[in-house]
Amino acid sequence: MRTFRLTPGIGAASVLLLASVLRGAEPHSVEMPNVGVVVRNFSAAPLGLVQKAEASCQQIYRAAGIRLTWINSVEDVTWEGPDVVFRAVILPQAPPSRALAAFGTALRERQELLLYHDRIVRFAKIVDLPMQSMLSVALVHEIGHLLLDSDDHTSSGIMRAEWDREDLNGILRGQSHFTSSQVRRMKANIERRGSARVR
Ligand SMILES: [Zn+2]
Repeated sequence: MRTFRLTPGIGAASVLLLASVLRGAEPHSVEMPNVGVVVRNFSAAPLGLVQKAEASCQQIYRAAGIRLTWINSVEDVTWEGPDVVFRAVILPQAPPSRALAAFGTALRERQELLLYHDRIVRFAKIVDLPMQSMLSVALVHEIGHLLLDSDDHTSSGIMRAEWDREDLNGILRGQSHFTSSQVRRMKANIERRGSARVR
């Protein structure tokens, strides 16, 4: 009979795996900060596609320990409510003033992000990725600016200023992350804003 001896490394990995399974089984975990995003779609992107983009954006934040709650319609509003609420507006076209490569803008003072449907469609074609994947990464990035409360970019990862196909695939596969200091900063900002609101 063969027996297996767990090395400390494998033991730790199993515990981590178990922790993530347990987290997955409990969607309303109290410790996980909850960010609501009210989505207004003024573009031709169909709701189904927007919801797929939302789901994959949600997974990327969940891996960072932040829960996103999408509010697409009045049915999604609950009395419990998230800790902070942002607004995401999908516009048909980018305003002419925006740089040609920009597919979105984070308006931090307004807790609002704008996404430009025409730019996202064009960029998706250039890098040969599905539109919903591009929309998802654009959401991840602009929500990142709001949560970090910063317009800064990093040399690698989700908060890079420019992406190629490889970077995008890395983000979508969960291989490109927020850094641990970015995650700490995002959580601290949610905590600060959440406790400042009137209850
Ligand atoms: Zn940016």
